Amino acid sequence: MNRSSSNQRSFSRRSFLKWAELAGLAAALPSASALAASENAKSGSRANASPAKAPASPETILLKDYRPKSIYKIPVTQIAKAKFPIIDMHSHPYAKTEREIDAWVRNMDEVGVEKTIILAMATGAEFDDIYQKYSRHPARFEMWCGLDFSGYDKPGFAAAAVQELERCHHAGARGVGEIHDKGKGLRSGKSNAAGMHPDDARMDALWEKCGALGMPVSLHVADPIWMYEKMDRHNDGLMNAWEWRLDNQPDIVKLSGMIDIFERTLARHRNTTFIACHFMNLDYDLARLGEVLERNPNLYADISARYAETAPIPRFAAEFYAKHADRLVYGTDMGVDTAMYRTTFRILESLDEHFYEIEQFGYHWALNGLGLNDEILQQVYRENAAKLLAARKT
Ligand SMILES: [Zn+2]
Repeated sequence: MNRSSSNQRSFSRRSFLKWAELAGLAAALPSASALAASENAKSGSRANASPAKAPASPETILLKDYRPKSIYKIPVTQIAKAKFPIIDMHSHPYAKTEREIDAWVRNMDEVGVEKTIILAMATGAEFDDIYQKYSRHPARFEMWCGLDFSGYDKPGFAAAAVQELERCHHAGARGVGEIHDKGKGLRSGKSNAAGMHPDDARMDALWEKCGALGMPVSLHVADPIWMYEKMDRHNDGLMNAWEWRLDNQPDIVKLSGMIDIFERTLARHRNTTFIACHFMNLDYDLARLGEVLERNPNLYADISARYAETAPIPRFAAEFYAKHADRLVYGTDMGVDTAMYRTTFRILESLDEHFYEIEQFGYHWALNGLGLNDEILQQVYRENAAKLLAARKT
């Protein structure tokens, strides 16, 4: 019983996609529609599964099975289509076939996404293949390549990596991403550079070349703070943090250290534009992110996959958006479903209170809408991204 429910848990849509991304298997993902079908089947079976034989009580209900439902009689806002057109700055090649890509475009039309940036995290033939498939819709998708870290610990690395970057650019890549460093070193899809962080001198030539080619870099450092906390009864984000725990990694650069590394990288490469993925994982400390943004004009932050982390603090988060509306860009990072897009609209646009999206986000807590005004929505949904993309040399 335990095992089957933990299997279901670990194959929730978000975690599966994240896992595949971590394992560098983005290209091997099953089709989006197959994923949706299996997810539906799973949530169906989850509803029928009874986690314990004993009568339900606080003694028998496990935290991992807790699925509260709001019973407040308060407004529920359904937003079928975003209030303004969107450029999604953080997505991945989830759709694998032409049919699936066409279906994704229809979803984008339905919810109001004008263009999606595909962070391919790939180089070489793998990038070329992704480019080939998505370039059938040149107005709807833009493909960004990864970096090749092979031989990063040997002489000649930088020259070879720069050469491959130039090749990808020539083949159609308009930016670079998503590049990860969760504290153990850089990673781009399947390519790893253990112990080499973004501020390493070995990365200088690559970051400079990105700037020279007008390729913005989508860089993901660290992870949400709850993953570093003790996995105990005080951990506010326990149910999601457990799955992504970093507290058990002794030789890792911690969150604050990774922010310092990112800032040193920004200062070293002023001619390169960086987009910090997921609020730079400072969703728990937006004041610090504000300071980092103010100190670094070559930095934007995307809001992808951190809806659940900002929706518990709607007033503080909305104030942050108001203050830094010119530096934040919309992103998803959570598949292709219309329901997923609509959840992001509800959080950004509505003033709904105390609603749950546990299967989507993994946290057990309730969410609230931020109620952003039209001016901020327009900037975050599209204007900032359009400006950033237009600033590139062709
Ligand atoms: Zn991503």
